[in-house]
Amino acid sequence: RRMSRLIDDLLSLSRIELNAHLRPEAEIDLVSVISHVRDALGPLGRERGVEIAFDHPQPPVNVRGDRDELIRVFENLVENALKYGGAGGRVEIAIAREGGDAVVSVRDYGPGIAPEHVPRLTERFYRVDTAHSREQGGTGLGLAIVKHIVARHRGKLGIESVPGEGSTFSVRLSASSPAAQKDK
Ligand code: ATP
Ligand code: MG
Repeated sequence: RRMSRLIDDLLSLSRIELNAHLRPEAEIDLVSVISHVRDALGPLGRERGVEIAFDHPQPPVNVRGDRDELIRVFENLVENALKYGGAGGRVEIAIAREGGDAVVSVRDYGPGIAPEHVPRLTERFYRVDTAHSREQGGTGLGLAIVKHIVARHRGKLGIESVPGEGSTFSVRLSASSPAAQKDK
């Protein structure tokens, strides 16, 4: 099962890289994307005893993007928060409008990540604790995929962590203008 996940992940990574120059154009509502991810990961959250909170403005919060790829991004971020930060018992997902941007943040109250690891997390196969990640079924490609999808969307990935307090992963995307949203 690990091997087939690894191959799937490598294939998606190269597919995303192949399309890196093509910015996805569909009009996507982030509230619906995150609601989907939250429902999909609800069982894992319950299994780990972690509450998943979701705070968002009045929908829709539209961006131009690829729905499946955006689901992939937030699935990995929320799954990571549950797997590595679940000890904190709570994961908070929030969508905020900031000027012309939509910012999605995924925050956990787990052990956090030491500063020397933070810049390396999006490298292929990079894992802070290889044994722990392997136990969780991880291949270490999740954040590499996240980074490439966000880049293809001309967005920004931010990682902030305080060891002992938890981590926040955020994705900034430029929001479609309200006028454009009304026209659709
Ligand atoms: P996969 O995503 O393929 O299942 P993975 O989760 O191990 O595997 P990434 O998603 O790329 O791979 O994450 C890389 C590493 O970053 C993880 O192995 C873990 O060590 C660390 N990490 C990621 N998110 C967190 C978090 N919220 N708290 C603490 N460490 C984290
Ligand atoms: Mg992961």
